[in-house]
Amino acid sequence: MLENLYRTVVMEHAKHRKNVGILSGEDVHKVYYKNPTCGDVITLYIKVKEDAIRDVSFEGEGCSISMASSSMMTELIKNEDLEKVKSKRLAFEKLIREGKETQDQDLGEALALEGVHKLRARHNCALMAWQALDKVLENAYNYNFS
Ligand code: ZN
Repeated sequence: MLENLYRTVVMEHAKHRKNVGILSGEDVHKVYYKNPTCGDVITLYIKVKEDAIRDVSFEGEGCSISMASSSMMTELIKNEDLEKVKSKRLAFEKLIREGKETQDQDLGEALALEGVHKLRARHNCALMAWQALDKVLENAYNYNFS
């Protein structure tokens, strides 16, 4: 399982989630996404203007890893321009899939999820929120990270 120090950060985010709620307004787009592996679900709300994420929130249910990762992601991308968000998104995927940190990319508390790399079955839990982000940016703004 996750190492103790990291586990505390993850549990804290899972319990006291940041940016939870519904956004409304003309400029807000949302997406519902489900992680079939574990049954975690998320509805992600996002507002993009002038190539930056102006606001973000989510509602979700699921395991601690998925909820902590969702909470951490909202903190990492809020008020960031899309190019920076793209770098973080790629760095986070590398952290989970390969267990490697990317130079010059500060993932903040999301680094606490590094241990998930060893838990292959949980990769989708950690990546769910970011995959939801891919989907809403592509559908609503025609923005593609790849
Ligand atoms: Zn899960």
